[in-house]
Amino acid sequence: MVPLRFFVLLVITLTLVHGVEEEQPPNVVLIFTDDQGYEDLGCFGSPLISTPHLDRMAAEGRKFTSFYSANSVCSPSRAALLTGCYPTRVSVPGVLFPRHDTGLNPDEITIADVLKERGYATACIGKWHLGHKPSLLPTRQGFDSYYGIPYSNDMTIDPAATLDDEIVFRAGMTRERLVGTENPPKNWVPLMRDEAVIEYPADQTTLTKRYTEEALQFIEENVEKPFFLYLPHTMPHIPLFASEAFRGTSRRGLYGDTIEEIDWSVGQILQALKDHGIDERTLVIFTTDNGPWKLNKGRGGSAYPLRGYKFSTLEGGMRVPCLMRWPGRIPAGTVTDTVAATIDLLPTLAKLAGGEPPSDRVIDGRDIWPIMAGLPEAQTPHEFYYFYKGQRLEAVRSGPWKLRRVGKTRREEASVALYHLGDDITESVNLAEKHPDKVAELTAKMESFDASLKAAVRPAGKD
Ligand code: MG
Repeated sequence: MVPLRFFVLLVITLTLVHGVEEEQPPNVVLIFTDDQGYEDLGCFGSPLISTPHLDRMAAEGRKFTSFYSANSVCSPSRAALLTGCYPTRVSVPGVLFPRHDTGLNPDEITIADVLKERGYATACIGKWHLGHKPSLLPTRQGFDSYYGIPYSNDMTIDPAATLDDEIVFRAGMTRERLVGTENPPKNWVPLMRDEAVIEYPADQTTLTKRYTEEALQFIEENVEKPFFLYLPHTMPHIPLFASEAFRGTSRRGLYGDTIEEIDWSVGQILQALKDHGIDERTLVIFTTDNGPWKLNKGRGGSAYPLRGYKFSTLEGGMRVPCLMRWPGRIPAGTVTDTVAATIDLLPTLAKLAGGEPPSDRVIDGRDIWPIMAGLPEAQTPHEFYYFYKGQRLEAVRSGPWKLRRVGKTRREEASVALYHLGDDITESVNLAEKHPDKVAELTAKMESFDASLKAAVRPAGKD
């Protein structure tokens, strides 16, 4: 018979261990690719792109098949991800360029701000694209450190950028040439560390590899404390680049090579979490910012079976692949078709970290932990989910229904389409005439939501 004393000790020990686990907030790794199509992972059906590490992540975690970005282009999509708000609300409605001195307002509260407040180490490694001027960089938005390119890889450099003393110039570029230039070449973008340019033009062939090395180092340095690693990859945004080890290796051309290199990167990160013994206290999220480019010769991605591409409020522009993995907490090998969105990550992560989302302002996202955890009663928090294109509210999804109103000008009536996504995922059959009541209901909803949002828009940041 087990002595009573031993039994009591065992219970106390188990309680303590359990209690400690409960108190330890999870590390968060948020991997965000750029312009990757809905179909472009093995586990989302790609016939040609091989992604064994992402597929394993799906097998060990949960796949979201109705997961939405909040915009179909880069900057607004990122503003939404980091603030939990529709991007129009935080005045990042469109793509930012090197000529702009605006960006996400530093007064906005980002995921990094929320987690830093809870004692997390925070790093942004990759493409930022929420303002490249000094006062708008990741280091001013809750991130302890930054390494990456400040906007899209098809852009240029702002000749006024701060250059690091140790900057590496490539391709015949010099400090003198750069400072004097008025028309810097396209596709030549700066690589930055924190707030200064350390390489110009960035060697884009090794970006995925170098982001991965930086990520592994950050993880290693923060094994003991909770961390938030935001890893917004530059690829597969065009122009496409892969490192030598991956170039020409996939069955889907250079586009496939870039995804397969990102898949390798995911594998490296998952392995590092295991090696450091922090696998079970780390939540890893993989998703993308918006749909693929519509390009010929296989240079763009595939949103199959969805209709539409990047720049569109059709599903192909905004429904994105998403995987979440947290061993022991998120049920392995499961799939959910419940509507959830990037704007939900801020409130969800705030809660998981033991905090709260900001209460002094409107946050559009909601806590989706019940959906992530696979609770049987979990439902979408978005009875109505809205699709903005710039300042214009073009569509709303409610349950299986989606109403889309495009092309409205003062003179012209909007073309109205009502789709039943449950029966028609390709948005091919317009049911507007058949269901006028549904059209009226959703139109009214769009108008009232848009009016309330526009009445309370918060200002952009300006350097
Ligand atoms: Mg993008």
